[in-house]
Amino acid sequence: MSGRGIVLTVVWSRRLPDQPSSVRVYRDSLGHWYASFVVPARVEPLPETGRVIGADWGVKEIATTSSDEHDLPHAEHGRKAARRLARYQRMMARRRPAQGQKASKGYLRARKHVARAHAKVVRQRQDTARKWAKRVVRDHDAIAVEDFRPRFLARTSMARKAADAAIGATKHALVEMGRKHGRDMRLVHPAHTTMDCGWCGARAKHRLALSERTYTCTACGVSRPRDKNSAHVVLVRAGLGPAGVEGTRPGRPRDARAA
Ligand SMILES: [Zn+2]
Repeated sequence: MSGRGIVLTVVWSRRLPDQPSSVRVYRDSLGHWYASFVVPARVEPLPETGRVIGADWGVKEIATTSSDEHDLPHAEHGRKAARRLARYQRMMARRRPAQGQKASKGYLRARKHVARAHAKVVRQRQDTARKWAKRVVRDHDAIAVEDFRPRFLARTSMARKAADAAIGATKHALVEMGRKHGRDMRLVHPAHTTMDCGWCGARAKHRLALSERTYTCTACGVSRPRDKNSAHVVLVRAGLGPAGVEGTRPGRPRDARAA
């Protein structure tokens, strides 16, 4: 392949499923070149399951779902890798050359470590996200997803940033996987998912404090782990209720915002 005088030898990561319509060539922070091809999507249908699921994103777990077998905790290897990355970033900051001065060997070495650690974090995150997404999509016909948007990214802690990035990657993987396999994907507005009751639909008068891990409904009396309740709210809001019955066929859409 060549372009603007650069000639590259291509190593294929996988075979193209079809004739590509365009290609994008880019270079990562380690200096590796990549080519990504755009191929028209073809739906690969999966067998019907008769099951639906709602997913809520969080800090305690990446995804809490209305199913008992599909929750996704924050990976320990992800935390370790994020800590390593933070250490190299601090090292790099300490060795940063003063303005007009040449970068030291130590600085360049730290910068390489940062790039490598970052690439590893991204790779692990995508791998975990894809495996989980595949399982969720295989096991459900319709999938309701909280439409998470990391709004406060710039002014939050490293841990929160890492969690946001993991959630973003996981949500993306799930939506892509669902579309690829022709599943019914529904994005749900995140407002009030922690205040509403996933079983009777009543809205609490007060916002739940973040330390409060249990949602107790004053209207119907149900008491559930906070994140499980939110997952049910997402499910019901997407029109995939009836509330309280897990894994049922899609009902009449109520407040759904279809993806
Ligand atoms: Zn209730």
